[in-house]
Amino acid sequence: MKIVSGMRPTGKLHLGHYLGVIKNWLDYQNSNECMFFVADWHALTNKYTDTKELQQNIIELVKDWFACGIDPNKSTVFVQSAVKEHSELALLLGMITPKSWLELNPSYKDLKFNLFFQYVRDFIYGKGLKISEDVIRDIVHKAFYHKKDIDFEGLEEDLLKIGLDSENIKEIIFNIKDGEIGKEIDTFGFFGYPVLMAADILIYKAEGVPVGEDQLPHIEITRELARRFNRFYGEVFLEPKAILTQTPKILGIDGRKMSKSYNNAIYLSESKEEVSKKVMSMKTDPQRIKKTDPGRPEICNVFTYHNIFTDRGVVSQIDSKCRQAQIGCVECKKILAESLNSFLEPIREKRENISDSQVKDILLEGNRKAREKAVKTMEEVRKAMNLWQE
Ligand code: SF4
Repeated sequence: MKIVSGMRPTGKLHLGHYLGVIKNWLDYQNSNECMFFVADWHALTNKYTDTKELQQNIIELVKDWFACGIDPNKSTVFVQSAVKEHSELALLLGMITPKSWLELNPSYKDLKFNLFFQYVRDFIYGKGLKISEDVIRDIVHKAFYHKKDIDFEGLEEDLLKIGLDSENIKEIIFNIKDGEIGKEIDTFGFFGYPVLMAADILIYKAEGVPVGEDQLPHIEITRELARRFNRFYGEVFLEPKAILTQTPKILGIDGRKMSKSYNNAIYLSESKEEVSKKVMSMKTDPQRIKKTDPGRPEICNVFTYHNIFTDRGVVSQIDSKCRQAQIGCVECKKILAESLNSFLEPIREKRENISDSQVKDILLEGNRKAREKAVKTMEEVRKAMNLWQE
């Protein structure tokens, strides 16, 4: 099967990326024709003001891929912006994309919701109110997903109920109405990114695209665009299938979603000492205050990590010892730090031996291979659409 998949170059990879994406790529590359690309144009859809680190981020990302075992002899590894044909196809597909498909795209809406939620949450915490994140999320969710427009009256009522004064509420509502919140994604580029994504996939006539459940709507738009194009101009594109991948059940060291912005991630390239330090600061079962308190591994984040990175035999020993208060959390974490370090050591070692210039050379060849395929598809597209040809 021909598989196309990309990642945005937003910095070094962490364990969540490894489990959610790279692990699957490693499986696919052995028995499929894979094209893995750095989606650098997509990184500009919401981070367009500061591009200083973009080029180095591309190199760091690809180093992480190679260190994990992505093999340029098996897969084509390339940079999206090095294959300009993606943008030509995105422009042409944009001509046939109904605006409503993009407006209804749930991830566009969800991202906007998240920005509103984060703003309201930070505002409330900034005023020193101790309201749980879940309660704030529910309030904003109720107002944001109210019919077509935001329900400001409902939002005002709910915020009053949790103790915010009316002046503060006015400020929140003013900032949301004013368009100040979320304005960084109120751009043509962000709005249209599913079309660019469709171009990234269709240009290589991909048969399969690995995605998490949240990205299924993008694949649906891609399939609909392929159908629409073929209906208007004749059969050029394949309709790719979504290959549903498991999203990792791994949280950050503070128990929240693992993310660079929460500063709670463990990176693949981190040193042994850094990894150990992070593991030792992980939250455990909150009811286990003293070593003599029996623990509940099923709700402990450290134990979730053990389940992934520690030998099965040791995991079951930890499980029963924790429940019987026969092991302390410090000791348990030390075991985890060892497991993680033995998993990461070969990755770190391989990464250190890859130079920037090696990455650039490999990308040069990958870009060339990808371009060859993209150029061929674009010739078919131009011909089918009866566009000007010299
Ligand atoms: S002993 Fe381990 S599994 Fe049990 S609560 Fe402590 S850290 Fe978690």
